[in-house]
Amino acid sequence: MSRALIIGAGGVAGVVIHKCCQNSEVFTDICIASRTKSKCDKFKEELQGKTKTNITTAQVNADNVPELVALMKEYKPDICINVALPYQDLHIMDACLECKVDYLDTANYEPEDTAKFEYSWQWAYRERFEKAGITAVLGSGFDPGVTGVFCAYAQKHYFDEINYIDILDCNGGDHGYPFATNFNPEINIREVSAKGSYIQDGKWVETEPMEIKRVYNFDQVGEKDMYLLHHEELESLALNIRGIKRIRFFMTFGQSYLTHLKCLENVGMTSIEPIMYEGKEIVPLQFLKAVLPDPASLGPRTKGKTNIGCIFQGKKDGQDKTYYVYNVCDHQECYKEVGSQAISYTTGVPAMIGAMMVLTGKWKKPGVYNVEEFDPDPFMEALNKWGLPWTENFNPVLVD
Ligand code: NDP
Repeated sequence: MSRALIIGAGGVAGVVIHKCCQNSEVFTDICIASRTKSKCDKFKEELQGKTKTNITTAQVNADNVPELVALMKEYKPDICINVALPYQDLHIMDACLECKVDYLDTANYEPEDTAKFEYSWQWAYRERFEKAGITAVLGSGFDPGVTGVFCAYAQKHYFDEINYIDILDCNGGDHGYPFATNFNPEINIREVSAKGSYIQDGKWVETEPMEIKRVYNFDQVGEKDMYLLHHEELESLALNIRGIKRIRFFMTFGQSYLTHLKCLENVGMTSIEPIMYEGKEIVPLQFLKAVLPDPASLGPRTKGKTNIGCIFQGKKDGQDKTYYVYNVCDHQECYKEVGSQAISYTTGVPAMIGAMMVLTGKWKKPGVYNVEEFDPDPFMEALNKWGLPWTENFNPVLVD
C-alpha cells in the first residue's frame, strides 16, 4: 500500500502515470497534481477502469510552498515524484521536508534566470533530509538516472577502478518536423546552447557550444554525428565513481536541428534575458516555446530508435578492461504502449522505478543522494522488467 504524489502533467509525467498504473501492487494510489488541472484529469479519464491504482487529481502551483504543503497534508503521500520543471525542485523539496515525504526528481535544480546546472543547491539539503528521516533521490530519469545506475553497476561487478567514462545519448528518431524538441523546448534549448564541458583529472574543461564532434555507429540506429555537451550527471559521477580520470557526455543531433538552432540563436530567439514587447515583458525563449510543437504531440509522428548508454575503460585485477552497456528503445513501440515517444518513455520509466525502489525500502536512506549512490542491482533488474532492457558489450568501439 503506497501513495505517490506526481507533480507535473507533461510528456514525462504521462509515462510515469501509465507505469505506476501498470505497477498497481506498489502504487496503490496516485495523485496527479499540476498547474493545469485539466491535463491531470485527462490522464485520469484515460486510465481509470483499466488499472487497480486509485487515481485522484489536483491543481497546484509548485512554485508556491504553502500550496504544496496543504496538498501534501491533505493527500498524505509516501513519496513525491517531481516531473514538473527543474525550476520547481527546491520548492518541492521544501514542502517534502515540512511534511516528511520522500522526494524524487529527474533533473537538477536550475534557477530560471541563469542557465546554470549544478547540484550544489540540492546537495545543501542533505543534513535537513537526514534529520527529517526522509530520502531524496536526485536525477532518476535516463540521463541523469539510468546512466548513473549503469556506472554503479559497472563499478560493482566489473571494475576495481573506472578511469574513463563516455556517456552516449543517441536519438535516431525522426518526427518529420524541420525543428522540434523531444522534451520541454525551454529546458532542451538552454541545455544545448550552453557551453560544453567535461571533467579531466578532477577539473572541468570548458568548450564552445558544439565544439567537439565525433561520429559513432550505434547498435540498431547506425552512424550518427554526436557533440560533447555539459551534462549534470558528470558532476556527481566524478565524485562517486572510483578512479575517474575523464568523463564526457555526447548527444547526437541532426544537421537540420543544428541549422535551425544556430539561426534562432543568431536572431536572439533563444535568449533568456527578458525584453519589452508591446508594453509587456517577455522572455524570447519562452515565446519560442509557445510556437514550437508540444513535445507531447510528437508521439504519433516519431519513428526510429534511441540508443543511450555508457562506455567504460578501467582496470580489473590489474588488467585493462572495457565495457559498454546501453538500452535501445523504439519510439513507435513506446507510443503503442503508453501514448508517448521514447524520450519521455526513457525518462518516465526510471522515475517510476526509482520511486518503487524507495517505496519498497531498497533505496530508503535518509538524506539526499544521486542514483549511483544506491545498490544498482534491483534497479537494473527492474529496467528489464518494466520496458528498458539493456545490452552489454565487452569489446566496444571506443570514442577518441
Ligand atoms: P513538459 O513541459 O512536457 O511538462 C512539464 C509539466 O510541469 C507541465 O505539465 C507543466 O504544467 C508542469 N509545471 C510547470 N511549472 C509548474 C508549476 N509551477 N506548478 C505545477 N506544475 C508545473 O516537460 P517534460 O515532461 O518534457 O519534462 C519534465 C521533466 O523531466 C523536466 O524537468 C525535464 O528536465 C526532465 N527530463 C529529464 C530527462 C532525463 O533523462 N533525466 C530527459 C527529459 C526530461 P502546464 O501543463 O501547465 O505547462
